[in-house]
Amino acid sequence: MQRLNVRSTQIRECIEKSMFAVHRRPRFNSGEVLLLQLVKSEAQAFGKLGSRIEFALVYDHYEQDHTGEISRRHWPQAKRIWEYILFCSKTIPTVPFSLENLSLSRNYAGQTNPMAISSQDEQLILPFMWGQLSGYEWRDEFGPSRIRDTVANYDVVAAHQKRKKIVVPAHEEFYRDPLLSESLKSIYDHRCQICGMNFRAKYDEPFAETHHIEPLSRGGPDLGHNIVVICPNHHRIIHKVEPNFDRSRFLFRYPNGLEERLILPDHLEQSSIWGDNQILSFGR
Ligand SMILES: [Zn+2]
Repeated sequence: MQRLNVRSTQIRECIEKSMFAVHRRPRFNSGEVLLLQLVKSEAQAFGKLGSRIEFALVYDHYEQDHTGEISRRHWPQAKRIWEYILFCSKTIPTVPFSLENLSLSRNYAGQTNPMAISSQDEQLILPFMWGQLSGYEWRDEFGPSRIRDTVANYDVVAAHQKRKKIVVPAHEEFYRDPLLSESLKSIYDHRCQICGMNFRAKYDEPFAETHHIEPLSRGGPDLGHNIVVICPNHHRIIHKVEPNFDRSRFLFRYPNGLEERLILPDHLEQSSIWGDNQILSFGR
């Protein structure tokens, strides 16, 4: 990891193009993180002494700027040229911070550019980098307002990147009878059997989902008595936390102990006289 001093007039190009320029031949490893630190005088002027670093680059390779053409093209306001241009694979946003505010083993102040960060200090700095912690860990570590600022910086970086597309691999699914699902929804006028949410009343659009109590993937049947009509909120939380369904009481029991009883259990109470249960009981 390296610390680079950068001026406010030059930083935008560094962020947008993932480039930097230095006078000394760089001896970085590919993949090394380069912290873009706003020079102190400017940080002071902008009230950013506590957030001199908001972006970092991931180093890839350098080229010599023999004619000065690259320097002039990318940083025309600087009216100077640098001997080495750093080309980086990406720009990453960081939680806004300043090295001076961390308990580091060394002092990284000064004009030296670049300045190597010790591997011990690097461990303290890494959590500030986008992608190092999960969203909740991050928020708990730095607080919601700093994460909000980080997301704003994320937008600055991502707005200049090419939109990425991903290929979703084909996957097998169990057949579901669409008429069964539509018929069940119609029984409840598309209301949620758990909470009664009625999208038609509010949005003028009948809208509900069907959920297989015993998932098709685990051998559950695509039959009416294995399906509930629920709102998207309930559908998502049920898939997320997987409550048990108590058939005798028509209620979902969640891992935290919460119980939600179907307020609209109609079709689960109903069964055909031709169904297995009845035929079996006739035989007894
Ligand atoms: Zn609901």
